[in-house]
Amino acid sequence: MAQTKGKRTWRLLVAEDELISRTLLTRLVSSWGYDVIAVEDGSQALEVLEGDDPPRLAVLDWMMPGADGVAICRRIRALRREPYIYLIILTALQERQKLVEALEAGADDFLTKPVQPHELELRIHVGRRIVELEEQLIEAREALRELATHDPLTRIWNRRAILEILEKEIARASRKGASADVCALMIDIDHFKTVNDQYGHLVGDQVLMHVAERIREAVRRHDEVGRYGGEEFLAVLTGCGVNGLKAVAERIRKEVAENPFVTGDRPIAVTVSLGGARLTGGEGGGSIMQLIGRADHALYEAKDQGRNRVVIDGEQGVNDEE
Ligand code: GH3
Ligand code: MG
Ligand code: MG
Ligand code: MG
Repeated sequence: MAQTKGKRTWRLLVAEDELISRTLLTRLVSSWGYDVIAVEDGSQALEVLEGDDPPRLAVLDWMMPGADGVAICRRIRALRREPYIYLIILTALQERQKLVEALEAGADDFLTKPVQPHELELRIHVGRRIVELEEQLIEAREALRELATHDPLTRIWNRRAILEILEKEIARASRKGASADVCALMIDIDHFKTVNDQYGHLVGDQVLMHVAERIREAVRRHDEVGRYGGEEFLAVLTGCGVNGLKAVAERIRKEVAENPFVTGDRPIAVTVSLGGARLTGGEGGGSIMQLIGRADHALYEAKDQGRNRVVIDGEQGVNDEE
């Protein structure tokens, strides 16, 4: 029976201290197409199973020096690591009475020595089925998480996720004190309605994706960017000081203004206005809505001043006062 499905080759750990048994098992399991890692004691088995990219299937002898099979099960289950490793315990007849102990320790299955080859092959198959089911569950869960936290159009954080990030950063800053800061940067596309009106909503959507990409390009690696609303984005910056905030905001403004969206033969010029606000941990943890309100206010100021510009809350230039 071929054990490779598609391109997948299954790796399987065989831990058995007796040379003859180990050789036999290895030969047998290899002949079914598995990539066998054979070790001769419990400590080596743990090293493999706790290491990076462990095999998903393991056949463990119960009695071994180092750590016995049951102790290995207990240890692996206690780690609660993902992905799941399917553990089959091999027992001598007298240990069979302690089967419950093995299952309680987290073994998935057990086999009595001497092993019947066909039975072992089928039981390993059961393990593969479990492992594959678990992989599908993880995949589905990750897809749901992606859906719940990301904007489907631009693939950046959605409103809820970016607000959660901002909230966490505010809490972190207030724990750390005056040396820590959080900045909220509101970014709004200028005259976006005109883009929709002139080119249609589909092109408008592409412009949104394009702008989101430009923003991601312009921020620093650890800054977070989300879609706050229709054509509004929110960037959360930390540890940048007011000058850093200004610099990042200005970089975003330039990145967008200097890279028009190209569709068909002609470029569509797009600009953004930005409003930033900064909070330091020493301020007794202002609320998230206060911070966003200040950033929003600064954004309106930027729109008022003619768009395609940056205004930082508390830093308005002399021109503002009319
Ligand atoms: P301002 O410079 O004052 O921000 O002008 P504006 O036209 O950008 O602002 P306004 O709020 O009047 O218009 C925002 C437009 O964004 C209106 C709305 O149809 C459009 N919009 C919001 N979400 C989407 C979207 O997902 N796709 C597209 N194509 N358009 C969107
Ligand atoms: Mg043994
Ligand atoms: Mg808007
Ligand atoms: Mg707008």
